[in-house]
Amino acid sequence: MRRKTKLIHGGITGDEQTGAVSVPIYQVSTYKQDGVGQHKGYEYSRTGNPTRHALEELIKDLEGGYAGFAFGSGMAAITSIMMMYKSGDHIILTDDVYGGTYRLMANVLDRFNLDVTFVDTSDLDQVKAAVQPNTKAIYVETPTNPLLKITNIAEVSAFAKEKGLHTIVDNTFSTPYWQNPIEHGADLVLHSATKYLGGHSDVVAGLVVVNSEELAKDLHFVQNSSGAILGPQDSWLLMRGIKTLGVRMEEIEANTKEFVRFLEEHEEVSSIYYPGLERHVGHDVHNKQAHGYGGMVSFDVGSKENAEKLLENLRYFTLAESLGAVESLISVPAMMTHASIPKERRAELGITDGLVRVSIGLEDIEDLKEDFVLALR
Ligand SMILES: *Cc1c(COP(=O)(O)O)cnc(C)c1O
Repeated sequence: MRRKTKLIHGGITGDEQTGAVSVPIYQVSTYKQDGVGQHKGYEYSRTGNPTRHALEELIKDLEGGYAGFAFGSGMAAITSIMMMYKSGDHIILTDDVYGGTYRLMANVLDRFNLDVTFVDTSDLDQVKAAVQPNTKAIYVETPTNPLLKITNIAEVSAFAKEKGLHTIVDNTFSTPYWQNPIEHGADLVLHSATKYLGGHSDVVAGLVVVNSEELAKDLHFVQNSSGAILGPQDSWLLMRGIKTLGVRMEEIEANTKEFVRFLEEHEEVSSIYYPGLERHVGHDVHNKQAHGYGGMVSFDVGSKENAEKLLENLRYFTLAESLGAVESLISVPAMMTHASIPKERRAELGITDGLVRVSIGLEDIEDLKEDFVLALR
């Protein structure tokens, strides 16, 4: 099955009993047992729910893994993954991971003595140097936010295997439509499905796919024990969103490429970060592991004042956190997502006050370009 077909025919489709072509929303908490322990595969909806199960089968198929799991948010997914480790274990993470992931690791899980080191995982030598006797996993985000840095998934996974470590990849930015980390050796893949998978800014969810029975058993044990599950209504909404992931990603890709070409012609704009640009650091590595570049672009408009002026005057770019929606979104990392990082550290990372991040949506690209031209003036 090819990628676009898998989005429609992967996982569990429809309902055998009625012939309904969409999976029903099983809004139910418990299931009748014919005798103690005699049931039709479902006992209680924290443990398993048919609508959630259909979504879990779908994401498993899309990522090419052994089993899928759906959680109440991307952060719930990441937290549940981390609960498979124990006090005293050590995890290596990409240094510019999603802010919420940084906060979870540095300010919450440190209470349980989960030891962490943040390194630039795009440099394998830094990963190698960070390994300790208690290291258990390498956690990679690629591309990253907001500078779209690229880590070589195959290289990191091969090294991790050699050392007996898990490789975990946050695949939110690329989506399973463009990138399948398990194909390149990763053990666990996760998504903030709130973003492209849902795609319509109307559901918060997280998904995980694991590549082995052992990991599946352990993650299901954590999911059932800690209970950070996705409800049936949101599971259904996500399946609905995923059906159009292919057309959305193709259209977003075309729009974004056109938008980047447009940005390159504007002297007010410098330092464009987009994996599709040949000069982008990591362009070649990204090409090896992904089929497309996504809809995230960051660029510098020179100063905080220019960035503010832009935000004030744009009509079609919504100022908002989040990404991956049908509507184009814009944010200023230094003032928003990365405000808690000291200015000097931000400067080191390349997150200047004039850095703007956009998530290109499905509007007519001519309107988006016009909007920018007018706002820049
Ligand atoms: C948004 C996001 C998350 C967190 O997901 P939520 O659904 O907001 O909990 C994790 N990783 C990345 C890359 C994200 O963009």
